[in-house]
Amino acid sequence: MRIYLDHNATTPPAEAVIEAVAHAQRELFGNASSVHHFGQRTKAALDEARAAVAHLLGASPSEVVFTAGGTESDNFAVRGIAEATEATGRRHLVSSTIEHEAVLQALKALERRGWRVTLVPVDSCGLVDPERLQQAVSDDTALVSIMHANNEIGTVQPIPALARVAHARGALFHTDAVQSVGKIPVAVGELGVDLLSISGHKFYGPKGTGALWIRRGVRLTPLLAGGRQERNRRAGTENVPALIGLGEAARLAAHDLASGDGRLGALRDRLEAEILANVRGTQVNGGPAPRVPNTTNVSFEGVEAESLLIALDLEGVAVSTGSACSSGTLEPSHVLKAMGLATHRTQSSIRFSLGSGNTTEQIDRVAELLPRTVEKLRSLTRPTARA
Ligand code: PLP
Repeated sequence: MRIYLDHNATTPPAEAVIEAVAHAQRELFGNASSVHHFGQRTKAALDEARAAVAHLLGASPSEVVFTAGGTESDNFAVRGIAEATEATGRRHLVSSTIEHEAVLQALKALERRGWRVTLVPVDSCGLVDPERLQQAVSDDTALVSIMHANNEIGTVQPIPALARVAHARGALFHTDAVQSVGKIPVAVGELGVDLLSISGHKFYGPKGTGALWIRRGVRLTPLLAGGRQERNRRAGTENVPALIGLGEAARLAAHDLASGDGRLGALRDRLEAEILANVRGTQVNGGPAPRVPNTTNVSFEGVEAESLLIALDLEGVAVSTGSACSSGTLEPSHVLKAMGLATHRTQSSIRFSLGSGNTTEQIDRVAELLPRTVEKLRSLTRPTARA
C-alpha cells in the first residue's frame, strides 16, 4: 500500500476535475476572444469557472484574474503593485520571514531595483504579531504581503488584524492563500485584504492554474504585455481546459467546506498524538498556533530528515522535509530557522500533509511504522563505544 502524505506539495486531481478538463479539451477549443459560436461557448465556460472561484472566495467574478499558478499570482501581486505605485513615491515593501520563495524572490528582485524591503520576524509558533508589523510599516509602505497559511508548518496568520495595520498607514495588503484555500474557509471580505493568491494544484485542481483576486479599484501593472484577455490584466490566450478544471476544483472545495466533517483534522491529530506518544524525542513545530487541519511538522531528535524521508519512501510512505522547492538540498528550512529552532532541529523535521484520500487505516500504518523506522536510523548514526 502506497500512502501519500505530501498534499501541501501537490494534490492528485479530483476525478470530476479530470473529466471537466478532458471534456473542455474535446469540446471547447474555440478562442474565448472570438465572437463566433465556438469562441462564445468557451467564454461562457470560462466565465462559469471564474464564478466558481469567486464563490469559493466570497468574491465577485470580475475581481478574479486567472494565472498559471501560485507563483505567478504572488509575482503579479508584489511586482504589479510595486510598479503601479512607483509614481506615488511609496518605495517600501513589507513581508514576513516565512513566506514562500515566490514572494521572497519577487521582493529581492525589487530590492535590487532600489525598493526597501522589511521582513517581519515570526514568533516560535511561526506567527506574525500585529504589533511587530506595526513597527515595520511606515507612510512609505506600498504593500504588505503576509501569507495566510504556511506551507511547511500549516500555521494560520491573524490576517484581519495584520491587514488593518497595513491599511492604517495607507498600504495595500496581499495574502498568499495557496495553502489555506480548500482547507479552511477563505472569504476575502472577512480577511479584509486587497489581493489574494491561490493555486489550483493545491486543492485537487490542475497544475499550472491559479488566480489572483484583486479587490475592485486596486490598480496593478500586468506582468505580461499583449492581448486584452482577463480585462487587460493578463495577456495571452487562456489555458481553457486547465482553467475549467480549476473551476471544477473550486466547486468541489466549496461543497466540501460547506459539509465539513472535520475528518482530516481528526486524522492529523491522531497521527500527531501517536507520534508524540510512541516515538521519543519528538516535537510538533508550530503546534500551539491555529493551523490548517491537514498539516503537521514534527522534529525527530537525532535523525536526519532526508534519511527518514527516504526510509519512509522505501516503506511506501511519501512525506516531505519542508517546501518542495528546496528539497534535494540540505539547506535548513528558512521557516523553521525563522521560528528560532536550533539547526539540528531544523534538519530533523518532517512534514506530513494529509488529503482527502487518506484513511484511518493508512494513518495507523504510518503511526505503526514510525517508531521502528526512527529507532533504526538512530541506531545507525549513534556513535559506537570505543573498544
Ligand atoms: N505559495 C505557497 C504558500 C505555496 O505553498 C506554493 C507552492 O508550493 C506556491 C506559493 C507556489 O504555487 P505554484 O506551485 O502553483 O506556483
